[in-house]
Amino acid sequence: MKMIKILSIISLSISIFSCTKENKNENDVDVQVMEHAHKDMSAGNALNVEVVNELDPICGMTTADYLKDTADYKGKTYGFCNTMCKEKFLENPEQYINE
Ligand SMILES: [Zn+2]
Repeated sequence: MKMIKILSIISLSISIFSCTKENKNENDVDVQVMEHAHKDMSAGNALNVEVVNELDPICGMTTADYLKDTADYKGKTYGFCNTMCKEKFLENPEQYINE
């Protein structure tokens, strides 16, 4: 009997958690930021630009699927999954280029 009660509390908190994640809550800014970030990284919005790197050098995501921003460095175009990765790259490009 006690076990059943515990299980129902667990499943209740799980469903509350998934509701918070999926439903828009105007009071919860974090949720909207998360949704926005997720949108930025979705494969459907990838840029159609040729880049020299197959993987985002910052986070390792495939640029073919997640290309959102590019940076030109020494005549080559490098692709990134988002602007944050690009800015990180531009802080110290040599660190990320293995040639
Ligand atoms: Zn990235």
